[in-house]
Amino acid sequence: MVWPSSYGRIRLFRDEEVLSLDYVPERLPHREKQLSELFSIFSPILEKPGSAARRVLITGNIGTGKTVTAKKFGELIQLEAQRRGLEFHYVHVNCRIQRGSFFHVLLKAVRHLKPSFPGRGFATHELLSALLDALDESDAYMILTLDDMEALVDKCGADPFYDLSRAHDDRTGGPYRLSLICILRDPDKLEKLDPATRSTLEEYVIHMPDYTKEQLFDILMDRVRLAFYEGAVREDVVEFIAEIAAPRGDARYAIELLWRAGKLAELEGQAEIMPEHVRRARAQVWPVEKDVLKALPLHAKLFLLAIARVFKFTDEAYISMGEAEDTYRMVCEELGQEPRKHTQVWKYVQDLAKLQLISTRPSGQGYRGRTTLISLYSIPAEELERELSTLLSKELEVEVN
Ligand code: ADP
Ligand code: MG
Repeated sequence: MVWPSSYGRIRLFRDEEVLSLDYVPERLPHREKQLSELFSIFSPILEKPGSAARRVLITGNIGTGKTVTAKKFGELIQLEAQRRGLEFHYVHVNCRIQRGSFFHVLLKAVRHLKPSFPGRGFATHELLSALLDALDESDAYMILTLDDMEALVDKCGADPFYDLSRAHDDRTGGPYRLSLICILRDPDKLEKLDPATRSTLEEYVIHMPDYTKEQLFDILMDRVRLAFYEGAVREDVVEFIAEIAAPRGDARYAIELLWRAGKLAELEGQAEIMPEHVRRARAQVWPVEKDVLKALPLHAKLFLLAIARVFKFTDEAYISMGEAEDTYRMVCEELGQEPRKHTQVWKYVQDLAKLQLISTRPSGQGYRGRTTLISLYSIPAEELERELSTLLSKELEVEVN
């Protein structure tokens, strides 16, 4: 049934909340395998509480369900622990939101057990002890998830992981109460850690592959049923959205397209989302998708800034890889960064193309030798430059003009 609102407009949305980023749906199509992997890794903790602690690393691109899968797992394991009469806490902390501060990450975990724990007067290592003591006191177990762990590595390097991996050292034989799930988009970040710390983190790795078009379709259909009134979104329109999002394999982008297309249709008083709404949603979503830029590794940002600068002043549709790299080296010099080697830069080019920030094609004839030609995808160069300058100023704590 389509329900008219008090303004006489047709309503499409039954429950818009279902399309928000934080929503954890009942089921997670195409992440069943990863969920059951998590269960088997953590099963000793339920079977023989205190006998072991686990450290798991979850990797994958943006929108591959890293966050939602971890949260779902947290919900489920907490229920199972409760059924077994265990005092068990799943705590999900986003390191980026905590500005990469290990202190604030730990404070969140401690406050989960002791809500009025003071935010001052403690050193970081004291907070870690306080956390373990609080777990001891209530004979409890915890899985602490460090989401967007990049932020923590960037700010604190290896120290937090070293400390966490040694947390139980003074109690051989247990009880081991604190386990970790680390969520990381860019595995290159691990290179910043020393080999010993790194290997403790890489003991169990779960990778979330990009979603295919068919998988995105399934994910979207679940949301359509919950978010919209019947008849508001045709299956072929859902398929269209899945197809647009497929090159990025990103469920976040797919769901955002669906939501925006719905808003556009609603605004026009339409009872149904049409392909044209999806196309307009796409045009709206892309240029402002700032999260994608923010999450890029530093040197991918620098390379993109270089390209934006070139395209600001040229009418050419494409520039050569060589020209792009020259400008990239200039940008690095200007900002006091050691330029990455060609093979690494080439990897960034491929990643940026995959994210549809740039597009690439072989040079073909007319160029001396073979090279790759690079074009800026859909963001105006000037806007991209402004956005990247702001991000880089913050990241490098220097003025970028
Ligand atoms: P990541 O943390 O990898 O960037 P998220 O977990 O935030 O990705 O997922 C992005 C969006 O897509 C969220 O709204 C999430 O609920 C949804 N999503 C991702 N994977 C699935 C899935 N398998 N089933 C249902 N929804 C999903
Ligand atoms: Mg996430």
